[in-house]
Amino acid sequence: MADLLGRAGYLDEAWDFIQTMPIKPDASVWGAMLGSCRIHRNIEFAEIAAKKLFKLEPYNSANYVLMLSLYAMSNRWEDVDRIKDLMDTRGIKPRQVWSWIQIDQRVNLFSTGGIPHQDEGEIYYELYQLVSDLKKFGYLPDLNCVYQNTDEVEKEKMLLSHTEKLAITYGLIKTSSAPIRVIKNTRICSDCHTAAKFISLVRCREIFLRDGVRFHHFKAGKCSCNDYW
Ligand SMILES: [Zn+2]
Ligand SMILES: [Zn+2]
Repeated sequence: MADLLGRAGYLDEAWDFIQTMPIKPDASVWGAMLGSCRIHRNIEFAEIAAKKLFKLEPYNSANYVLMLSLYAMSNRWEDVDRIKDLMDTRGIKPRQVWSWIQIDQRVNLFSTGGIPHQDEGEIYYELYQLVSDLKKFGYLPDLNCVYQNTDEVEKEKMLLSHTEKLAITYGLIKTSSAPIRVIKNTRICSDCHTAAKFISLVRCREIFLRDGVRFHHFKAGKCSCNDYW
């Protein structure tokens, strides 16, 4: 119920529901509240939910990353540093991010900070072209998905290196019309989600992406999750 109300934007109602629950809210309830706060960019409730979660599951990096994204969206860089310090103190590292795509019986792996893919040069060349095409159709890079206080050009560059973008681009290069199937171990960011919708429209390609949270089917500019994930 908290998840349903929160995702739909009824954060006050979700909050009241949690407060009046006959059982003590656990991490899944507070996690639902925090996720909803990220969607609707509500820092006030997010801070309360995060405080509970940092106690209930202190080693779950996803909660810290969600707070990082919320503070970064609001340009609250001191708070971003505070959360990073807290993660350091507790020895929490963000989960290593992986995306993979199978092409001709071979699994191609893309990871942050891992060994670069053998066709990386070709992939980035295609990705630059692709993004410039997407922009003609209205795609705007979501710079809020970068949690570092740097300039816009640098942020846009950082968005290009997201593993799911690289995997999808590789699928576009290596296959001609078949649907592209990508798996990612963590949640897809909103910029890659938007980009995938545009790619499905601009390149007339269906994309199936299973991320760490749910399943997405991008087709003709839309996603089966209706932008709730
Ligand atoms: Zn991304
Ligand atoms: Zn989706």
